[in-house]
Amino acid sequence: MDGSISFDKFYNIINNSKVSSAKTYHGIDPSTEEDLWEVPIATEDDLNKAVAAANDAFKKWSSLQQQERSRFMKDLADHLEKHKDALTELLSKESGKSMPFAESEVEMGINTMRRHSDWSVPDQVQKDTEDVKIVVQHVPIGVVAGITPWNYPFQLAILKTAPALATGCTVILKPSPFTPYTALKIGEIAAEVLPPGVVQVLGGDDSLGPWMTKHPGIHKISFTGSTATGKKIMAAASETLKRVNLELGGNDAAIVTEDFDVQEAAQLVATATFAHSGQICMATKRIFVHEAVYNEFMTHLVASVTSYKPGEGFCSPIQNKVQFEKVKAMYDDCEQQGLDFAVGGGSKACVDDHRPGYFIAPAIVTNSPESSRIVREEPFGPIVPVLTWKDDSEVVERVNDTPTGLGATVYCRDKKRAWRISEGLQTGSVWVNGGLKLDPVALFGAHKQSGIGGELGPLALKYYTNTRTITYWKDRLEGPEAKGNKGLFA
Ligand code: NAD
Repeated sequence: MDGSISFDKFYNIINNSKVSSAKTYHGIDPSTEEDLWEVPIATEDDLNKAVAAANDAFKKWSSLQQQERSRFMKDLADHLEKHKDALTELLSKESGKSMPFAESEVEMGINTMRRHSDWSVPDQVQKDTEDVKIVVQHVPIGVVAGITPWNYPFQLAILKTAPALATGCTVILKPSPFTPYTALKIGEIAAEVLPPGVVQVLGGDDSLGPWMTKHPGIHKISFTGSTATGKKIMAAASETLKRVNLELGGNDAAIVTEDFDVQEAAQLVATATFAHSGQICMATKRIFVHEAVYNEFMTHLVASVTSYKPGEGFCSPIQNKVQFEKVKAMYDDCEQQGLDFAVGGGSKACVDDHRPGYFIAPAIVTNSPESSRIVREEPFGPIVPVLTWKDDSEVVERVNDTPTGLGATVYCRDKKRAWRISEGLQTGSVWVNGGLKLDPVALFGAHKQSGIGGELGPLALKYYTNTRTITYWKDRLEGPEAKGNKGLFA
């Protein structure tokens, strides 16, 4: 690569080369509905070339010492940091996030890359007697396809790349067609730092994902997106028995007990619900408030949420038109079902037709039956139902009554009670007294139809490896690797 990166020209990155394509398309700025830059649509031939390069690169990359890979990853983090301002601006354009919000995503991604560079999955000695030694090794799976959605295009691309690189896998990223821009630049920046074929990025149309999931030269799919697509990916991956990581949709609940400061709870819940207009997998999507504090809680919640203005702070536009229509339909369903709105109303009341952009004002629904769509489904927009409860075990049962199990938040002062409630929840994460917290060291996994496997932290690395168990009889070994010498056979 020539070393210069411009943030208004976009290429697929194959074997460290910038590759254009006969066919192109462009994203749309969700704040203005203006066209963004053209990006190439990868062909099946492009994918085949990338897969061949990734397999070739895997031979060397996987045989490097962890410290050597770590140096490359730190270097990549430094190069991303060098372009932080341009990446932030690009992310803000493609996703509709405000600049501070976009900046925090870019920082989180760079930090994630740095932290993962320090981790590996060490061999585990299972048995070591006079005669026999048994060692389990965790060996890199091979070529990983990272398929990502549109809500966190930068951070999620890094979340696929970092554990793969740390374990010795090579990566081909496929960003959402709605938000291809920052991921393509990750590829370009990586090409300045990493050997060819280690990180490649392909933008494309709806054919590209299915080509990847059936490709025999790809060994693992690491996917973040909707549960519906996750199921298709798992079915397609079964043809070649690819490994899968699936980070899927959720319907996260917040449980507010009566012993927590009501005003503080309302403010924390409002942020965890409406940040990025609800387009966060682990945003609160059902609010369960103890009946003893319900009225007071609603007063504070309504006061907070009515101060939110679409387009200001974290009230981003909906990222794309397809999702905008889905969100509007959810508002209208609540209206048609005759549900009460404590804030907002149907889509007509919440969308300003004279303003460009996919903006919709927040809404809070109060008397929704638990069978209603707004309680059962993930709206992925700024609308939420509030429900009441009176008994701890009852609320846990109701929160668990969903096919998904991504996360939940508990607001409770009493430590024992908070712990008891948390342990009853069938979710991959539980946050106590504050939501929306991901830490690079902590595994982010899921229960039920919210996913398989996990990401973040040293524990997630094993999902990028196969195990190899070596059993050997010490007395039947000869030569320098025999009993008492250094190395695996020591
Ligand atoms: P989506 O499932 O529509 O698309 C995600 C990605 O999959 C895109 O890149 C898309 O092009 C690709 N894709 C679509 N069909 C495919 C196929 N058949 N084979 C291979 N790839 C295919 O999801 P979305 O609308 O972009 O994102 C929103 C969803 O993502 C929400 O449900 C949200 O909860 C979920 N999400 C989950 C997490 C998590 O960590 N659990 C994080 C962010 C978003």
